[in-house]
Amino acid sequence: MSDPYGSKVREFHEKFGLVVRDTPDTGFWNERQLRVRLMLEEVLEFAKAAGVMVCMEARRVQMDRLWIGDSAETPDLTAMAHELADVAYVTHGTAVQLGIPLLAVTAEVHAANMRKLGPDGKPIINAQGKVQKPEGWKPADVGAVLANKTIPVVQEPPDMGPAERCCFCRKRTRMWTALHDRSPGQQVACCEVCAKSHVPKDVPTKAEWFRQEDARR
Ligand SMILES: [Zn+2]
Repeated sequence: MSDPYGSKVREFHEKFGLVVRDTPDTGFWNERQLRVRLMLEEVLEFAKAAGVMVCMEARRVQMDRLWIGDSAETPDLTAMAHELADVAYVTHGTAVQLGIPLLAVTAEVHAANMRKLGPDGKPIINAQGKVQKPEGWKPADVGAVLANKTIPVVQEPPDMGPAERCCFCRKRTRMWTALHDRSPGQQVACCEVCAKSHVPKDVPTKAEWFRQEDARR
C-alpha cells in the first residue's frame, strides 16, 4: 500500500542527506542513539504542550519509575497538534531510515490488538483502563512482516457498501490487504483466515482478480 506520508518523510530524508533504507536494517549505533533521542524529545514536547509534567530521578529513565502528573499549565491544542505531528514525522522518519514498512507492520500489530478480546468476545480491561491480553493470545509477528511472509490485512472503512469477495476463498469479507508495495487502489479483499494461510506473493493483482471473476461469469 502506498504511504504518501511516509514518502514525504522519505523525500525529506533524501533532500537533507539523511539515511534512507529500502530493506530492514538496525542501522549504526549513533543513528539508533539519535533516533531514540529525537523520539524522546518530541514525546516530552508533546507532554509539555498537553500540560503533562514528566519527572524522573537523576538516573536512567524507566517507564515504571516515571511520575506523570499535572504541570498546572493550560493545555495548548495548537502546540499539542504541532508536537504530535513532529512525533509522527520522526516516527515515520525512523521507519524510512530503517527500511521498515510501517503500514504493513501497523496492520500486523492492529490484527494482534484485535485478537485481545476475551473468550466471551468482550475486552479485558484492568483497573488502569489498559486492555489486557487473554490467555493464549498470539502476539503480532512483526518479524514475519519484515521477512514479507505474512499478508497484512486491514478492515475497510464502515461506509464502504457491500462486502467484497476474498481473493482466495471468495467468501465475503470486510478485510483488505495492506501490502506495502501496492498503492491503495491495487489492494484486494482478503479474509483473515486466508491472510494467515498464504504469503504476499500469492495475492493476485487487481487485474488478475478481475480476470478470474470475469472467467466465472
Ligand atoms: Zn478467504
